[in-house]
Amino acid sequence: MKKGDKIKVPRSNMHREKLSLAMKGNKNQEKKRSEITKQKIARALNNNKNPLGYKHSKEMKRKCAIAKFGNNNPAWQGGISYEPYSLKWTKEIKKKIKERDKYNCQNCHKSYLLKDKELYIHHIDYDKKNCSLENLISLCLSCHGKTNHNREHWQKYFNMIINKSWDGENWVKENKV
Ligand SMILES: [Zn+2]
Repeated sequence: MKKGDKIKVPRSNMHREKLSLAMKGNKNQEKKRSEITKQKIARALNNNKNPLGYKHSKEMKRKCAIAKFGNNNPAWQGGISYEPYSLKWTKEIKKKIKERDKYNCQNCHKSYLLKDKELYIHHIDYDKKNCSLENLISLCLSCHGKTNHNREHWQKYFNMIINKSWDGENWVKENKV
């Protein structure tokens, strides 16, 4: 796409396009970045006296920052109090989700009505800042553990459950697949 093209597109479309471009572009950027890093490492190895080391460590810092930002490990959800997510992540939300899910694990359907502390709230898109009700789902410890692997599968699966049962305001069907 040419640079000038974007200006003609209405803002909302432009925004959407940018977003989708950004989503699609991620993998390529990742490749480009690692190519650049490879080149830098090669250069640094060839020329040890050059103060490239500084630049390299800067690049590494940036990489670390990206890696940290991208770490959506659900196990991290509890302790980080300075993240914006803690403003929305309240006992009330947890209770609301558990009530919506009728205190059942939404994967194995075991009931945790009498031991609701053993029921965990999972962020379907693995973004702990996204606390919209349709991004949250109740899981038992064992099923929550499974969501650390095959993330794409689980995300699709839980989205399907939510789409089937949630009309945006109300839980319209019995929450069984
Ligand atoms: Zn379960």
